[in-house]
Amino acid sequence: MRELIFFEPYFKQVLWGGHRMRETFRYPIPGDDTGEAWVISANPHGQSVVRGGTYDGQSLGQLWDQHRELFGNMDGAEFPLLVKIIDANDHLSIQVHPDDAYAQIHENGSQGKTECWYILDCEDDADIIIGHHAKNRKELKKMIDSGQWDSLLRKFPIHKGDFFYIPSGTIHAIRKGTLLLEVQQNSDTTYRLYDYDRLQDGKPRQLHLAQSLDVITCPHTDQNTRGKEEDHGSYQVCTLVSSPYFTVNRWNVKTHAAISQNFPYMLIDVTAGSGLLDKYEVKAGDHILVPSGYGMIQAQGVMELVVTHI
Ligand code: ZN
Repeated sequence: MRELIFFEPYFKQVLWGGHRMRETFRYPIPGDDTGEAWVISANPHGQSVVRGGTYDGQSLGQLWDQHRELFGNMDGAEFPLLVKIIDANDHLSIQVHPDDAYAQIHENGSQGKTECWYILDCEDDADIIIGHHAKNRKELKKMIDSGQWDSLLRKFPIHKGDFFYIPSGTIHAIRKGTLLLEVQQNSDTTYRLYDYDRLQDGKPRQLHLAQSLDVITCPHTDQNTRGKEEDHGSYQVCTLVSSPYFTVNRWNVKTHAAISQNFPYMLIDVTAGSGLLDKYEVKAGDHILVPSGYGMIQAQGVMELVVTHI
């Protein structure tokens, strides 16, 4: 089918949210505490809805259920991916997600969660937490039990354009002053390890220490998945990650590029700039499903695209 399908995000207000999505993408956010935009989501807790075209007003979940041909007639009860933009105006809790096998048994048959982050913008002194320094599980438990967070957690500075792959079992936290694009397995299962002893409505948020200890990979192994930047003159392309759950490429279009869509489906997030994808005008903040059988996409303009397929 030769139609690009555009989505309107579902917005989520949270304690640590901000208002950068209004300034950066002109999104009609519901308040100055908007932390998440679920930009390509069929998750029952918040669905993206088609804007314009043949499927105007339908949710991604409806498309998955009733028009599976758009997705190459793939199997599966649920659309497997979830793409979000996150605006962290404060630190998020330190957390970890289970893998598919653990979630299957302990979370009512749901998926695990492997995710990845592409940094869209951040403050000069912004940092991130990924992984830990414990040498073995005994040491991990001891450091968690005694709250030695500064020596346990791996923290490092971040910059615009950085990319991080976070397989299930990896301790991680987004920190204050970060705007990022997240591509992840469609799952809500999060085990919270530490929440900076903060209170919400006078009470600490629930922690999940036993489950966290079950699923944390120990010792931590670093994952550098980013491939080399290929320069083709009118565009550059690099693979950010190629994993069993998703492959994510970053296209930097300088004048024009041809992007081949011969996967069951492809997702395009316009993260900067503007231009044309075939006859469609696109700009930063647009999120698009390119259906099965679409073929070649001609991109023109000056823009950055994050392109995901499975
Ligand atoms: Zn997470």
